[in-house]
Amino acid sequence: MNLIAFIILFAIIFDLLLNGIADYLNLKMLRNDLPEAFRGIYDPKRYSQAQRYLKTNTRFGWITGSFNVALILFFWFGGGFPLLDEWVRSFNYGPLVTGLAYMGILILVKSILSLPFSIYATFVIEERFGFNQTTWSTFILDLAKGLLLAILLGTPLLAGVLWFFEYAGTNAWWYCWIGVTLYMLAVQFVAPTWIMPIFNKFEPLDEGDLKSAILSYAKSINFPIQNVYVMDGSRRSSKSNAFFTGFGKHRRIVLFDTLIKQHTTGELLAVLAHEMGHYKKKHILQSISLGILQMGIMLFLLSLFISYQGLFDAFYMPQKSVYAGLIFFGMLYSPLGFFIGIFMQMLSRKNETAADRFSVQTTRDPKSMVDALKKLSVNNLSNLLPHPFYVFLNYSHPPVLQRIQAIQGVSKS
Ligand SMILES: [Zn+2]
Repeated sequence: MNLIAFIILFAIIFDLLLNGIADYLNLKMLRNDLPEAFRGIYDPKRYSQAQRYLKTNTRFGWITGSFNVALILFFWFGGGFPLLDEWVRSFNYGPLVTGLAYMGILILVKSILSLPFSIYATFVIEERFGFNQTTWSTFILDLAKGLLLAILLGTPLLAGVLWFFEYAGTNAWWYCWIGVTLYMLAVQFVAPTWIMPIFNKFEPLDEGDLKSAILSYAKSINFPIQNVYVMDGSRRSSKSNAFFTGFGKHRRIVLFDTLIKQHTTGELLAVLAHEMGHYKKKHILQSISLGILQMGIMLFLLSLFISYQGLFDAFYMPQKSVYAGLIFFGMLYSPLGFFIGIFMQMLSRKNETAADRFSVQTTRDPKSMVDALKKLSVNNLSNLLPHPFYVFLNYSHPPVLQRIQAIQGVSKS
């Protein structure tokens, strides 16, 4: 076993253990008594249901995580990578087609093997806790559409990267960087109007109090929107959410129909003000720029390792290729990706607090924001008291009690 293999193996096991420890600490935080802020809102029976939901999901996460690790180790040390390579090469297509076939088969097999887990999560776990609204026909249609979309969008992207690294020499990484960036921006630009409607219905919010309240608020903070959209989230789950997507003239604010059903106008306005806060505070621009930067770093490192003999030796590959180098580098990159991910989560939590503050300062209605957060937590069975280490590793938003505390701090000052 060479150094590269050792680093990758260590990273895989370390990641599994670290998440296991975080899960264990998180479960040990569970208490029967309800936090002060939620007394009178959270029915004790529902609160104990939320704790069972967390335990079930944690246990399920362990099973899925261990299965994935076992799968990759079995394939790796069983010599699966060279075996598949030999087979796809035997058809004697050029490097592009061979590469696409190699990667396509790996992705397809991985997706098929993880299918039982997603079926169990949707139709057993979510069902048991009363969230699931997905019918089998929706599930199967989603799967088919997802596969088709992955092929349509993924093939040109992968083919481009393979082509540059095959033929563009030392310039490949930054040609790729420009190409991938433009491609991603184009996809994000058209996603709200062309891609998302493949999976959900988006309808303009009906005329009425809510719409006029939103439009007049948007005007007051100088945020140009023509319309707010309602998405049929209830088609798959009773959980609720709101989000902001796209940019330029395709930009959209979207409310789940489930959110509208469960909240007052004041609460919905507070939630939307939070979303607009992300835009006004330039968080969207920030995350796009950081994503582009990260892509550049990754492609540069890829260019250093893609033909490094040790990388191929680690996976018992007798013949070098761009496509296999791409996959192996992805595994070598995962420790760095892990640290970048933690940094991005920290930044995201900071931005969430800033967006809450923006909402409270501009609507001058901290009570509605707090009520909205409480209702969201109860309806989605969120964990009220996650362990700080678990939050550090996994949370993109601060835990709800911290958000409430911060909001109350803003409204007092
Ligand atoms: Zn947010």
